[in-house]
Amino acid sequence: MPPVPPRCCGLAVEDYPRTLRELKARFATEDVCREYLARLRWRSGFLCPKCGASGGWPTARGLQMCAACGQQASVTAGTIFQGTRTPLTVWFRAIWWVVSQKNGASALGMQRILGLGSYRTAWTWLHKLRRAMVRPGRERLSGEVEVDETFVGGVETGGGGRHIGKKALVVLAAEVRGRATGRIRMRRVADSSAKSLVTFIQDAIEPGSTVITDGLQSYRRLPKLGYEHDRRVVLGGGESADAVLPRVHRVASLLKRWLLGTHQGAVSREHLDYYLDEFTFRFNRRSSRHRGKLFQRLLENAVTIDPVPYAAMVQGVRGRRKE
Ligand SMILES: [Zn+2]
Repeated sequence: MPPVPPRCCGLAVEDYPRTLRELKARFATEDVCREYLARLRWRSGFLCPKCGASGGWPTARGLQMCAACGQQASVTAGTIFQGTRTPLTVWFRAIWWVVSQKNGASALGMQRILGLGSYRTAWTWLHKLRRAMVRPGRERLSGEVEVDETFVGGVETGGGGRHIGKKALVVLAAEVRGRATGRIRMRRVADSSAKSLVTFIQDAIEPGSTVITDGLQSYRRLPKLGYEHDRRVVLGGGESADAVLPRVHRVASLLKRWLLGTHQGAVSREHLDYYLDEFTFRFNRRSSRHRGKLFQRLLENAVTIDPVPYAAMVQGVRGRRKE
């Protein structure tokens, strides 16, 4: 039997189904799904999750046996698919459905389409997948980048019903690409202090970039931290904030419309981060011609982040990312 996964050139850089019909035909069995995941996870060959050695061989039970320590590893162990009782073929269909929803996926829609027994299952799956929408070690934004904060939300579920909750503060960054908008990043922050906002900028934007903000004092330290700072003070009566920071303002209004439309505004504050991740994932790939490419990206991420148990997930715990 040939070594699985292949040592090299196993998976073409882009290797994804183009249509739902192709997906169904290709990923019809557990073995095929597992093999695809193995090639995404161990691109340059099997790495033992226990001892770290490379090299192994497949067993009859669909596992990988480490050549060094004899550990039998499942390709789904240590990924968001760990311990799932649902066939991978169904997961693959779910992921295809999620990336095909131009306006985002709701738990109710997913439950209906896949015929899942419970809303809770659909909700849990969606949250697992949202965690896979941020690629570990993704690049920071660069060039000219607009940054601003906005309030999001207001209506929350929880505490046994719907009630008006506090709004959440979200800081957004959007790259300037000529007249258009490039990639975006966003994060929920506790307040508009320099600590909150500048920490986000350092995580999201390459030093050396030009950061465009309004006149808020919190941003004043940026030049000391290696950024060019284009500070645009909005004067009363004249220019509006929309005119000086048009891209982040447009993204902010799209985000709010999306939360209200797809999710009926029913996003609680502790889970908002994951909805922001989903919005960012979709926005940054909005011009991607092939849904299948998103399908592959999401699966690639799904096998590189750690699983989060349901109990932790309902509290909004972020999956620890592998380096
Ligand atoms: Zn080992």
